[in-house]
Amino acid sequence: MTIAVYPGSFDPITNGHIDIATRAAQLFDKLIIGIYDMPDKRILFSVEERVNLVRRAVTQIPNIEVTSFSTLTVDFAKEVGAKVLVRGLRMVTDFEREFEMSLMNKKLYPELELVCLMTGLQYQFLSSSLLKEVAGLGGDIRNLVPEFVASALKEKLGNE
Ligand code: ADP
Repeated sequence: MTIAVYPGSFDPITNGHIDIATRAAQLFDKLIIGIYDMPDKRILFSVEERVNLVRRAVTQIPNIEVTSFSTLTVDFAKEVGAKVLVRGLRMVTDFEREFEMSLMNKKLYPELELVCLMTGLQYQFLSSSLLKEVAGLGGDIRNLVPEFVASALKEKLGNE
């Protein structure tokens, strides 16, 4: 059985993340979405809130599990028995960051292979940080996140 992990901040989950998770779940027997539980002042949603939103977003896909972790990604992957690390690529800057991290990860856990999936064309510009900025200024985010994520953002940002 091939287990893959898809780690990230997911603050909050977007349709871009959901697209990558859906496609990765078709490639591997089990996909574990791992949500970083680390102090970061730019994070808007608590780890519990992020886990709940991600769980809701992928509830229809039976071979996806969602959990949080507060260790190195490679240690999390080892702990759950994953041999594959999934990441999404949007642009050249993503590639450079992933390339650098993957070389370090190879040193730490040589058996772990990185699989990068290219973003869907419609999600190329979509990031959680840009989404929060647009939502914070009252912009329309309806086609970028599930309905319940849009509501959670409105509530959090106080612009209901
Ligand atoms: P991180 O802080 O690790 O970048 P994110 O939640 O921002 O956490 O992203 C998690 C993963 O999902 C990363 O591999 C990122 O490149 C990917 N990702 C984020 N948004 C998109 C998108 N719109 N299309 C494809 N991949 C995406």
